[in-house]
Amino acid sequence: MPSNRRAFLTASAVAALATAPAAAATRAPRSRRPHRTGPPATAAEALAELLAGNRRYAAGRPSHPHEDRRLRHALAGGQHPYAVVLGCVDSRVPPELIFDQGLGDVLCLRTAGQVLDEAVLASVQYGVAELRIPLVLVLGHERCGAVAATLDHLRSGADAPGHLELLVEEIAPAAHRTRAVPGDWAEHTMTAHTVRVRDTLRHDPAFSGAQVTAARFDLDTGLVTVLP
Ligand SMILES: [Zn+2]
Repeated sequence: MPSNRRAFLTASAVAALATAPAAAATRAPRSRRPHRTGPPATAAEALAELLAGNRRYAAGRPSHPHEDRRLRHALAGGQHPYAVVLGCVDSRVPPELIFDQGLGDVLCLRTAGQVLDEAVLASVQYGVAELRIPLVLVLGHERCGAVAATLDHLRSGADAPGHLELLVEEIAPAAHRTRAVPGDWAEHTMTAHTVRVRDTLRHDPAFSGAQVTAARFDLDTGLVTVLP
């Protein structure tokens, strides 16, 4: 990535985004959380919390935690989310719902096909460096429209219209890599692309303070599984 494209993201600029120093941020009182008494402090705890919430969602027993007015007032003074979720814009995959989380829990970023650009990278860095979030979860999902659009354009050879070109450029490497793999090309592409995004973040020193994990959401079962 050209350094000049990142030049704007100085430490002071990032710090200015924060409403309060992370170390001094008030940890909001947690309410209606059935499985924990406090917010996750480590990446392992954060991942366990997300997966536990997803199991509640998939089972049709969500607790809809952390939505009450008292918590809203407490969070007005500062936030301390415990995970970054980078997912797709797909209307069937809203992170707060599928992980059964509420206000102040998760910093969510959503782009079609969870592709990266400078705004996304800057936002992840804000979460990791300023809010000191220990976990970044890159979430792909089956039957992703951005993946399908990419495969359509690769099959036809036609240029992607307008801004969609970015999606094709970002997802095409995974599609090329998996084209000869037997089975569902779209599924293989989604998995490889999600892992590729994860690895891009893992290899970026801007995110060295966090664990970066990839996962897949199943539209049929509602379950999230961690990708190897
Ligand atoms: Zn999608």
